[in-house]
Amino acid sequence: MTKSQRLFADAIKVIPGGVNSPVRSFGSVGGTPRFIKRAQGAYIYDEDDNGYLDFVGSWGPMILGHGNRDVLKSVREACERGLSFGAATAVEAQMAKLICGLVPSVEMVRMVNSGTEAVMSVIRTARGFTGRDKIVKFAGCYHGHSDGLLIQAGSGVMTAGVPDSLGVPEGCTKDTLSAEYNNLESVKVHFERCGEEIAAVIVEPVAANMGVVPPAPGFLDGLRRICDSYGALLIFDEVITGFRLGIDGAQGYYGVVPDLTTFGKIIGGGMPVGAYGGRREIMELVAPMGGVYQAGTLSGNPVAMAAGMAQLSILKEHPEYYEDLNRKGDWFYGQIQRLLKEKGKPWRVNHVGSLGCLYFTEQNVDNYQSAKTSDTKIFAEYFNYLLEHGIYIAPSQFEAMFLSVAHTQEMLQGALERITIILQKI
Ligand SMILES: *Cc1c(COP(=O)(O)O)cnc(C)c1O
Repeated sequence: MTKSQRLFADAIKVIPGGVNSPVRSFGSVGGTPRFIKRAQGAYIYDEDDNGYLDFVGSWGPMILGHGNRDVLKSVREACERGLSFGAATAVEAQMAKLICGLVPSVEMVRMVNSGTEAVMSVIRTARGFTGRDKIVKFAGCYHGHSDGLLIQAGSGVMTAGVPDSLGVPEGCTKDTLSAEYNNLESVKVHFERCGEEIAAVIVEPVAANMGVVPPAPGFLDGLRRICDSYGALLIFDEVITGFRLGIDGAQGYYGVVPDLTTFGKIIGGGMPVGAYGGRREIMELVAPMGGVYQAGTLSGNPVAMAAGMAQLSILKEHPEYYEDLNRKGDWFYGQIQRLLKEKGKPWRVNHVGSLGCLYFTEQNVDNYQSAKTSDTKIFAEYFNYLLEHGIYIAPSQFEAMFLSVAHTQEMLQGALERITIILQKI
């Protein structure tokens, strides 16, 4: 038995599924989750001292690679001063100023502790501002696990929400309308039926929770126009894309300006942080300025802010990191596509910058419906081969691969050699 196996056997007795977030359990790929002991640069190491080239990066936050010295220094210094005060601190204002400076659509911002919390709060704010209840989300877009958003739908564009989880009362999802990603008609249908009741459309500007699905040309623009013509707000959930595709988020990358934006993952540098922000007149409604209540004992925590500030500052000072990440992404995912062609495999690679996904399907993947056609059994074989050969990708077909600044061309070349071998076998 490996140490990971022993630890998992222990954990499963006292933690549901042995993990604190479901996808970590390896449920869809089989085998035992690796228990990770430490990480450095582009590598993570498990309790049995196996090293893996890490394409998860804690699901996005570790864009600089693990163990960045400046981030760690900043965190250590903050720890020495105190772990939490539950009171206003200078670093919170610095952080807010930095974010507002980087993302022009964000004029005011509130820090929270996770992406889930950011999205939950931004929706309350959008409803408070518009005085409307309904929201439109897209099948296959993940916005955290709050009640009203646990709808993947797939059940067709005309149906209002049916919850995806036990314990979510239908009352909580009855105002969530589901549309199809990259399909403006499916959004218009809702607006034509009840446009005056729709507070907001929430979208991942690059869908990165059903693999990676880029927005079709005109899709994000089209959402902006529909929202404007009905007085609804456009919310970009940039929990993954924020500070990933560029320093001004997917909104800068695609040149479409939302009313409100959520952040998470990268913004915390590896600490539990989320944020939501947007136009001043909307954000002024948030308590204690306005009547939209939202609070948090540990929100703006000084240690978490120190990590986030340090990481964002480094990214701001090094615009070449984004050029490098996007170039590496184009090259690496392009190479996988080329390998597929060479081996006569009909499968698909989607990517935007450093985010990418290989789907085991012959269809173009442009929405949830087509993403679901990927053969998850082949994915499991692919995943397990890579894991056994020192390459750690997310244990699910429907997650992105993340590159970091610490991934070198040689490392990626090594990964491609492994990918070549497994593509021959499957
Ligand atoms: C990860 C994610 C969330 C949820 O963030 P948590 O920090 O896991 O609560 C919300 N939206 C998107 C787009 C995400 O990728």
